[in-house]
Amino acid sequence: MKRHHYTSLLACGLLAITNAAGAACPDHFSPAAKERLADSIDIVPSAHQLNVVYFIGNDAEPVADYERRLSELLLYLQQFYGREMDRNGYGKRSFGLAMKENGNVDILLIRGKEPTEAYTYSGETASKCMDEINAWFNAHPGTKRSRHTFIVMPTHYNQTCNDKNPGGVPFFGWGTNCFALDYADFDIKHLGKDTPEGRLLTKWYGGFAHELGHGLNLPHNNGPASMNAALGTPLLNAGNYTFGTSPTYLTPASSAILDRSETFAPEGDATDFYSANGPVPQVRDLKVEYDGEALNISFRCLGDCAHVNAYIQDPPYAINQDYDAVSFTGTMKEIQPGEYEVTFTIPREELKSLRSDVQQLDFLFIEKNGCRCRWNTEIKWSEIQKGVLNLPVNFDATRSGY
Ligand code: ZN
Repeated sequence: MKRHHYTSLLACGLLAITNAAGAACPDHFSPAAKERLADSIDIVPSAHQLNVVYFIGNDAEPVADYERRLSELLLYLQQFYGREMDRNGYGKRSFGLAMKENGNVDILLIRGKEPTEAYTYSGETASKCMDEINAWFNAHPGTKRSRHTFIVMPTHYNQTCNDKNPGGVPFFGWGTNCFALDYADFDIKHLGKDTPEGRLLTKWYGGFAHELGHGLNLPHNNGPASMNAALGTPLLNAGNYTFGTSPTYLTPASSAILDRSETFAPEGDATDFYSANGPVPQVRDLKVEYDGEALNISFRCLGDCAHVNAYIQDPPYAINQDYDAVSFTGTMKEIQPGEYEVTFTIPREELKSLRSDVQQLDFLFIEKNGCRCRWNTEIKWSEIQKGVLNLPVNFDATRSGY
């Protein structure tokens, strides 16, 4: 990940005046946050912002100073995503955040209908929370800024959970939403420190960064071997354990998805996100060739696609067993509107992290409105010979992204 540079607080103050995107250092931010944000890049203003919700049981209060702490952590994370998008060639774009005049992120405090203990780490709780949050949005018109909502809930305080061992509440991606948690020492001042609070922060802030990725449409993936050697651990691989302590990055495949994720759309982008209802993208003239060192893949893609990613992984292939999926981005050449020639080169050397003889090759089609669909095939390396391969293809006609 990008390490911040220590610059003077004066520079930070100047940034507050000059940074139109709002990623700056208000006076009430902590010295640690001012240092971390001192070399902030100007994030491109977004057309749609991430909804940030602080959700508490009807018997609870927010953890002290949550607005400042979460604002600092969110802005630092926004910078991470923005720098990584820029490095991958998409400009200084990140998830948009709605800001308050005092420089805090506009965090919506929503009180649940039930006591804290009723909100547990479960899908049932997640859907109950989303029902209550959506009811709140309906009762407060204009507060919902996009289809992506980031929900933070304070740790439970009981026999097993407390500020030193936070937990009890949902902590996972949930469609276009995701859940993370808050506790007393969830503070950027502990970032990267080899202390109990520092290690705890990496666990929960790295998790926060990773789960947010899921809520912004990202699947798990690993990087090609040479990229990992150069850049560290992908955030959507095991980056939740490395973020803040060792180099962590976003793969080009993750950036390609975020390029068409609603809260990353720059001001003026009029895309009606996740609205596709026509035919899913079609593949024609698929050709897969093995030259002894790499798979060379080409096909024509018919549809309103912005990007195509490829993922190759060992079995099993289910969600949450896909951390190992090594990702690649296709080169797209427009033949005519709605028709592209897509090519991939997948060197075997880049797949060193994989072990199995049989591997699944998945293609993810990312439409301009952010919807995705997949097709996949299986490769048995021991049976592959040089030349053109005949691979059976399973096309999944269901779109995700609604
Ligand atoms: Zn995950």
